[in-house]
Amino acid sequence: MSELVLTEGERVRAGERLLALLDRYERELPQAEVLPEPDRERLADLLANSMPDKGIGVDGLFDRFEDTILPSSTRVAHPRFLAYVLGPPNGVAAYAEAVAATINQNCNFWQLSPAASVVERSVVEWLAGVVGFPTAAKGILTAGGSLATLQALATALNDRVPGFRQSGLQRSAAPLVVYTSVEAHRSVDKAAVILGVGIENVRHIPTDDQNRMDVAALAAAIDADRRAGREPWCVVATCGTVATGSVDPLEAIADLCAEQELWLHVDGAYGALFLLCEEIRELMGGAARADSITLDPHKLLFAPMEAGCLLVRDGAKLRAAHAFDSSYLTVTEDPLMTDYMDYGFQLSRNFKALKVWSALQAFGVDAFRDATRRTLRLAQHLGRGIEAVPGLTLLAPVTLTAVCFVVDGASEAEQTALIKAFAEENTALLGPVVINGKHGIRACITNHRTTIDDIELILTRLREVVEKREAGCLPASLG
Ligand SMILES: *Cc1c(COP(=O)(O)O)cnc(C)c1O
Repeated sequence: MSELVLTEGERVRAGERLLALLDRYERELPQAEVLPEPDRERLADLLANSMPDKGIGVDGLFDRFEDTILPSSTRVAHPRFLAYVLGPPNGVAAYAEAVAATINQNCNFWQLSPAASVVERSVVEWLAGVVGFPTAAKGILTAGGSLATLQALATALNDRVPGFRQSGLQRSAAPLVVYTSVEAHRSVDKAAVILGVGIENVRHIPTDDQNRMDVAALAAAIDADRRAGREPWCVVATCGTVATGSVDPLEAIADLCAEQELWLHVDGAYGALFLLCEEIRELMGGAARADSITLDPHKLLFAPMEAGCLLVRDGAKLRAAHAFDSSYLTVTEDPLMTDYMDYGFQLSRNFKALKVWSALQAFGVDAFRDATRRTLRLAQHLGRGIEAVPGLTLLAPVTLTAVCFVVDGASEAEQTALIKAFAEENTALLGPVVINGKHGIRACITNHRTTIDDIELILTRLREVVEKREAGCLPASLG
């Protein structure tokens, strides 16, 4: 028998230790520190040790999880983890991941993963339905939003540039130009650089007073590029900017793209899944007119890392950009099955769809609607609470779940100290933000575990901070 499998006794023991670990993690979460101080000594020990010739066994391994890994891990699932667009995994995540690892399907061509191929297709079709895409749409789960956007722009290049597969961008005369806003995510710049478009051909269009792309400025930039002999090619609009949650005017941008024959990609990594809530549809309705859209199940569907998704309106274009003949991976076509190697860059690829599908099966979509709706309401509550405190000012309207504010008159350093103090005293993990050059503080409620009491606690502490500050206390004594 191979030494790389567990004996029956070890399996039982591993199961017990795993259950105990998961149970303790869940129970201790509300009281635990959101941002534990890393145990530097133990972490340095990891580097000091050479590769172990002899194993420590199941119990030894679980001991290491508990004494070294968990204590120095950020508690993303803590109800007051409110920094970044990052939420706690849903309750069946750990189990779905364990099953995925056990069956170890390779989601490249369907014979290696028949059920996975259909599960992924069904998840993609459900998500396409949420966005309002036609049935010709196709998509793929990716390692995240950044990679989804990279693949979207690769698809858009292949669609636009004649002979792209043969010559890439090496022979196109006029430089292609992509337009996005100053508030767009860095992944747009990264994709443009990696694909050889070049950062000088990315236009960062200014935003209006609500941090949305200024469509008149966009039209003017397109016009200026055409006059200068460049080739406008693609617009990346954002449905939920990272900093403020603003949503670009998607309908107006879609009109302009149609008129100018530009590919419209919508970066909905943060915001698009709010389309689950009816009341937000009007704000984001234009998303359904995009040529392609990025969304991130590891954000609002609370899938564990990593699960992004790219959807392309005309699925044949996604395939045209990514499918290659290959001599040894020939499979018979089957209308039920999809060979995902033809829809993305990866060949070997894990079964990401299982964790997304499992959560939708176990909890139902209504549970996710309720969770996202709750985060929207909590953000509104926090926003109103901040507005009601003299000495605090919102830096942007609360559109989705990002709440950006400034302590009036406080320097960047003073606000950094406040963020640090809040983390240390376990009030909450908030993050810094810069909006139109103004430094502030940001809470992003992408957390299905956050309650109204958590928000009230933060508001109470903010009120105290402002009162102390007005009484002349030094920044160092913010707490
Ligand atoms: C999170 C995010 C991204 C990046 O997605 P990853 O999954 O982290 O790669 C891109 N755009 C926006 C608007 C985001 O919120």
